[in-house]
Amino acid sequence: MLPVITLVGRPNVGKSTLFNRLTRSRHALVADYPGLTRDRQYGVGQLGPRPYILVDTGGLSGSSDPLDMLTERQVRLAIAEADHLLFLVDARDGCLTGDFDIAAELRRTGKPLTLVVNKVDRLDASLVLPEFHTLGLGDPLPIAASHGRGLNTLLEHIFDALPPAETDAEAVGTEEAAKGIQIAVVGRPNAGKSTLINRLLGEERVVTSDTPGTTRDSLFIPFQANGRDYTLIDTAGMRRRAKVTELIEKYSVIKAMQAIDACNVVILVVDAQVGIGEQDATLASHVIDSGRALVVAINKWDGLSADERAKIKDSYERKLAFLDFAERFQISALHGSSVGLLLDAVEGAYASAIRDLPTPLLTRLLADLVSEHQPPLVHGRRIKLRYAHQGGRNPPVIVIHGNQVEAVPDAYRRYLINRFRKELSLHGTPLRLEFKSGS
Ligand code: GDP
Ligand code: GDP
Repeated sequence: MLPVITLVGRPNVGKSTLFNRLTRSRHALVADYPGLTRDRQYGVGQLGPRPYILVDTGGLSGSSDPLDMLTERQVRLAIAEADHLLFLVDARDGCLTGDFDIAAELRRTGKPLTLVVNKVDRLDASLVLPEFHTLGLGDPLPIAASHGRGLNTLLEHIFDALPPAETDAEAVGTEEAAKGIQIAVVGRPNAGKSTLINRLLGEERVVTSDTPGTTRDSLFIPFQANGRDYTLIDTAGMRRRAKVTELIEKYSVIKAMQAIDACNVVILVVDAQVGIGEQDATLASHVIDSGRALVVAINKWDGLSADERAKIKDSYERKLAFLDFAERFQISALHGSSVGLLLDAVEGAYASAIRDLPTPLLTRLLADLVSEHQPPLVHGRRIKLRYAHQGGRNPPVIVIHGNQVEAVPDAYRRYLINRFRKELSLHGTPLRLEFKSGS
């Protein structure tokens, strides 16, 4: 599972500046999906070869009082789920009461913590740092987030402090046990994830024992359907929840992101009775950011009037237009209708995501698409796109070589993506284009 690093600090110390620096999109897929907005609170960064989830608690809290802020649910959850805390303070302000309050709270969590002094630009670090020792949190690390200064040292420091990534031997019983396509079911609270999971698993298909204790930590739940193997990734304990009433927080973006990262195909569950909201769009943006294949289940289709159904379809097409690559099903997890179609779509999406796309095929297609619809002139010269080859799988990447490729307009890029997708019959996976200059 992706490690979680959580940023904490008073307002205005520079948390969101640091967050933005560290979470530039992993896959550059975002540009190909107009209408998609990045999540400003949860992002993915990269420590050397190792991706991690970064949470900006400043974005999660509406309060400017440090103590109120720390008691807000999503902030508490982000701290509880953190593998490492970054406590940010402001070199220009010096140590304030609010910093001492936060320090006391954070110390109580017992979590590994790094004290980071931001805004050391134009200041002499050796003069400003000593005062922060009084927080009793060890040596402060100086950075200037807005200038990118000190960030490598900071990342190396965190990398050393994190528990090492699981080795294969330790993964036995978790990933090891995973068979077939790995599926993550994500969606806003109450969308019907647990209900759907229990339907998919079906009582007789459940391999994992129900004895208390044995299921507690099983994040990877193997099951069979239609004679095929699948593994469900249940980071949020959704399988248990439908049976046991639990008072724990029902919704965690962090757990959803971890499941998305660990899976092959995401099933995004949308609640048709509530409508499509910001949380759906945010989760969808994490799916695209991860490059994972996707199937959308519009749930609770039962009991809706024809009018309400039309409204939901319309709203989906407006608010989640960037998910047009994903197959979408109207289902009732409660009654089971259309649930059987989901796994076939999962198979299809994964097959598309890992397909081999031969160079001659891509190059011939590119020539067809270009002759059908020429790229525009730039400074009186036409953009030339000469040949294409596959640059990656899961998600598929098509690399196009040509001249003046940096001037390819977004609309033309969209045209190519849509047509490649159609001509290659790619369903349910994001597709990424990369342009390279010269031959
Ligand atoms: P947050 O409330 O903790 O998320 O803080 P922001 O990231 O919004 O930053 C607050 C202000 O501090 C903004 O005006 C930033 O431009 C500024 N800031 C952030 N990092 C630095 C830095 O390293 N040096 C300086 N001089 N200003 C910074
Ligand atoms: P989760 O929080 O996403 O895991 O949602 P749950 O599976 O716990 O479901 C939340 C509520 O929605 C429960 O009361 C379910 O019975 C109900 N529900 C789930 N699926 C459906 C459905 O297809 N139709 C209707 N009408 N209710 C559903």
